[in-house]
Order: sequence, then C-alpha cells, then structure tokens
Amino acid sequence: MTTENVIIIGSACAGLTAAIYTARANLNPFVIEGYQAGGQLMLTTEVENYPGFPQGILGPELMALFRKQAEKFGTRFLTEDVTRVDFSKKPFLIFAQEKEFKTHSVIIATGTKPNLLGLKNENRLMGKGVSTCATCDGAFFKESKVVVCGGGDSALEEALFLTRFASEVTLIHRRDKLRASKIIQERALKNKKMKFVWNSVIEDILGENAVTGIKIKNVKTQKVSELECEGVFMAIGHTPNTELFSSYLKLHENKYMETHPNSTKTSIDGIFAAGDVQDFVFRQAITAAGSGCMAAIECEKYLESLHS
Ligand code: NAP
Repeated sequence: MTTENVIIIGSACAGLTAAIYTARANLNPFVIEGYQAGGQLMLTTEVENYPGFPQGILGPELMALFRKQAEKFGTRFLTEDVTRVDFSKKPFLIFAQEKEFKTHSVIIATGTKPNLLGLKNENRLMGKGVSTCATCDGAFFKESKVVVCGGGDSALEEALFLTRFASEVTLIHRRDKLRASKIIQERALKNKKMKFVWNSVIEDILGENAVTGIKIKNVKTQKVSELECEGVFMAIGHTPNTELFSSYLKLHENKYMETHPNSTKTSIDGIFAAGDVQDFVFRQAITAAGSGCMAAIECEKYLESLHS
C-alpha cells in the first residue's frame, strides 16, 4: 500500500482550500470528502459575504467552484465517510468502510453540525423559513417577524444580526437566564426590535410550504401558545465533528479540536485541523478557507522536515 503525503478529511471551505494549496505544492493530496460533501454552505442559499462575488453566489455553487479549482491542480477525491482512524503510530491510518489508507500527514476539516430540536417539521421546513444561519439567510427576512431559539452567544449574535432586517426578533429561551456573555446580553436587552419569551420551548413549527408560525410551550406553566412568524432560526449550539479523533487528539472542553495558538497544529505532530472543527469564535466561510490555507502551508513544512 502506498503512503500518501497528505490526506484531507472534509470537503468544505477549509478542506478544499487545503487541497488547492497542497496540490499546488505538488503534494498530490487525497481528499476523503464524505457523503455530505461541501459542508454547511450546502445548506444555505445565497452567500453574499464571500469576497470576489459582488453579485452573491449560491452556497452549493461556491463549493462546486472550490472543488473544481482543487481538481484542476490534481487533487484526488473519495466520496465516502471516514469510519475510523489510527493515529497511534506513523504513518497514520485512515479507514473508509473496508478501505484502508496510510498517510504521512492529515488535515482534519470535518466542520460542525448545527444542533436541531429534532422536530418533524423542522426538517421539512429547513430552507423554507427554518434556518441555522442568520448570517447566511437573514437578508431574506426584511420587515418580517422572526424567532431565534437559544440563549447562548450564537443565539444572541444571530438575533442582533437579524434586527438589521426583520421588523421583530423574538428570542425563545428554555430558561429565564441567558447563557450568553454579559455585554451581548445588554446589547440585546436594549434593542427595541427584540422581544424575549422566557422559560419556553418550541413544540412545533407551523406552515405548509413556508413557515407561518410556531407553537410554544411554557415549561413552568405548561401553557401552549402560537406565535406568528416567517423565520425560525435555530441557535442551540453546534457539535464539532470530532468524535472520530477524540481518543487521539486533544479537544477543548466544548469538544472543538485544540490547535496551537496562531496555528493549525494539533496535539500530534503531522496532524492539522482547519475550519469550523477548531474554530468556535468566527465560524465563517472565509475564515475556514483561511485556516485551510494555513494548514496546507504548515503541512508542507512538516513534510519537508521529514526529509531533512
Ligand atoms: P451554547 O453556548 O452551548 O448555547 C446553546 C444555547 O442553546 C443555550 O442557551 C442552551 O440553553 C440552548 N439549548 C441547547 N439545547 C437546547 C434545546 N434542546 N432546546 C432549547 N434550547 C437549547 O452554544 P453557542 O451559543 O453556539 O456557543 C458555542 C460556543 O461558542 C460558546 O462557548 C460560545 O461562548 C462561543 N461563541 C462565542 C462567540 C463570541 O465570542 N463572539 C460567538 C458565538 C459563540 P441553556 O442555556 O439552558 O443550556
């Protein structure tokens, strides 16, 4: 079995940027892109904040362009999910079902998945009023009433962002205390467009082909009520896709991959992490692409060091 120079796990902004850079460095990268290639941008509609596309671009179209550029320089792809890794010795081993690969280095770019409530209509109306990304979809809700579910930094940031477009933003939180940092709490509580529904959970999302409202239950009184709205933004946290690696690599307490400061190096030499899987602060397409580039450059230096 040949030993690859670098295997990139994941195929969204970070993974594909790492592929473009490592391919141009003649490292002949191999990307295991997963069955759900393209990451979170595949769930969004128009991307208006990716530099270079002043007219905006659809998320899946942007990912197709990234992939095309990576292919152009010779990147090889496997459309399967990684099922297991063995980072206990070098070369590292990566498994995709029955297939086994050996590699001198790895770039992990597996991203995160947004948490959902698990309601049937949540999935059915995803992209039809239900969203997990205010930055991506907020502008479609000009002068509309929207709700945000959650009480953490993401929920409040998303809610505040949505006040730029929506006529009213109602935050639904399951407790009567917010988890978000004080400064953002104060900002949100002061914002005239924001309303708060405390001690409440979303029981159902209403609407046939588009969201028309939600059913809310007050967890203290058990009272159920309906609220009209056109958008429902889920901001109940993200889960980084790190389970596969957790027995080998150091993770933060919140399960995100730990990387050295200003670097994509992980706790094992030769393994790098880029994009949302190691970033719980910015989480933007452009920052993910930036860290994919960093990972490629650091990986190239690491591979050079093996020969010196
Ligand atoms: P988070 O801090 O884990 O907050 C998730 C929120 O969703 C909590 O308020 C939680 O309620 C609520 N929630 C979770 N599951 C729920 C459910 N099933 N039903 C209803 N509500 C539910 O997640 P996050 O806001 O995405 O932030 C993740 C990390 O990134 C945090 O460390 C955060 O500080 C950081 N972050 C930082 C910034 C920034 O610094 N600018 C921005 C965004 C995120 P409870 O409060 O009751 O648990």
